[in-house]
Amino acid sequence: MTQTQGPSGEQNLTSDDTGDDSGADELGGVWDVVVVGAGPAGSSAAYAAASAPGGDGRRVLLLDKAAPPRYKTCGGGIIGPSRDALPPGFQLPLKDRVHAITFTLDGRLQRTRRSKRMLFGLVNRDEFDERLVQCAEKAGAVPATGVTVTGVRQEEDGLAVVTLQDGRSVRARCVVGADGSAGRIGAHVGVVFDQVDLGLEAEIPVPPSVAQAWAGRVLLDWGSLVGSYGWVFPKGDSLTVGVIAARGKGAETRAYLKDFIARLGLAGFEPSIESGHLTRCRSDDSPLAKGRVLVAGDAAGLLEPWTREGISYALRSGRLAGEWAARVADAGDATEVHRQTLGYTFAIKADLGEEMRIGRKLMSAFERRPRAFHVAAIGLRPAWKAFARVTQGHTTFAGLARSHGLGRQTLQMLIRR
Ligand SMILES: Cc1cc2nc3c(=O)[nH]c(=O)nc-3n(C[C@H](O)[C@H](O)[C@H](O)COP(=O)(O)OP(=O)(O)OC[C@H]3O[C@@H](n4cnc5c(N)ncnc54)[C@H](O)[C@@H]3O)c2cc1C
Repeated sequence: MTQTQGPSGEQNLTSDDTGDDSGADELGGVWDVVVVGAGPAGSSAAYAAASAPGGDGRRVLLLDKAAPPRYKTCGGGIIGPSRDALPPGFQLPLKDRVHAITFTLDGRLQRTRRSKRMLFGLVNRDEFDERLVQCAEKAGAVPATGVTVTGVRQEEDGLAVVTLQDGRSVRARCVVGADGSAGRIGAHVGVVFDQVDLGLEAEIPVPPSVAQAWAGRVLLDWGSLVGSYGWVFPKGDSLTVGVIAARGKGAETRAYLKDFIARLGLAGFEPSIESGHLTRCRSDDSPLAKGRVLVAGDAAGLLEPWTREGISYALRSGRLAGEWAARVADAGDATEVHRQTLGYTFAIKADLGEEMRIGRKLMSAFERRPRAFHVAAIGLRPAWKAFARVTQGHTTFAGLARSHGLGRQTLQMLIRR
């Protein structure tokens, strides 16, 4: 185990995986909160746990198997709710600001909608995630990278034990599982998923003339595979081009991405990275906690079922998990631990759970009638305005469903059976 100084001067542990178990292990002792996974959910949880009231002296550890900056398959679209859930003073490393969206239906019926006000921003996840870790560290959390977690168990002495690949273990009063959609901690909690999709992406460096043609504008294509869509997100001198569709149609999804890239005239440019990742949405009654362990972000299956937008869900659930983890850590007995984990569950269900409920309805309608969604986006002003307002963070799909305006009527029209 080696130590380096983080940017804020705090301790930053990196493992050479020496397996050093000599007793001078920096991961030793009892931690108040151990967060597994340093994506947006984990960093947000670590930040919130370290900053929660009574936090002086609270020991918060943030573990990740990868060292930042690490690549993550993701469009890096930062919508308003993501921006609003960032730690105070966080500087978004924006690669572009989106003011226009070109919509196509399987490559046809193209129309570009524009907005004077920025719709959403675009980041590269390696840079974005690294900054979030730095924020958590500044708040007092201790990041430890190169540490792969293999599981968690709960002991009768009221502690949770996180086990590591190198044979060591870490003891905690509360654990937050934020280790992504294939995470180990979600399996321990018993998270159940009812929608699994495969996202494929290519990072395509392009010459300045091509980059210029895309600057400030994204493209969304409603695909021919059920529930699928594709996107082009410009990031300065490269484009993130991706598609997403239900899992189980790997060959068709790959063909969709290939055709999509060719149709856009981008086939002549060599991608610098090609990757894929599964997204998983929780079922409505899936657990969010077990004993002293909470789950957040993708690990909990928290993401928007229609768009598969997950950064805002990760940031928001991570913050709540961090706040409640601090309370679990301070809890005097098992009854109080249970009360606090229930508090976390209710907070998630009341907010993100409600948003996912509307998202599922949208997804179900989109699967049946993608053309109606396209016609609404390109031809109905209230539908475009509602979509723009959601991306800007003025409302959410659940907020639209509760409102009394034209946005609600459009939403009702789209999700009607
Ligand atoms: C193709 C695609 C495009 C997307 N585009 C967008 C988009 O444009 N906008 C948007 O909002 N969302 C998008 N999403 C969703 C978004 O990427 C996720 O919802 C988001 O990353 C979830 O964050 P998280 O912190 O929960 O998990 P992650 O970002 O996956 O972070 C998990 C962390 O846990 C670590 N980890 C995993 N296992 C272990 C282990 N065993 N031990 C230690 N550490 C571990 C990983 O290294 C990682 O750092 C997209 C998803 C896909 C697949």
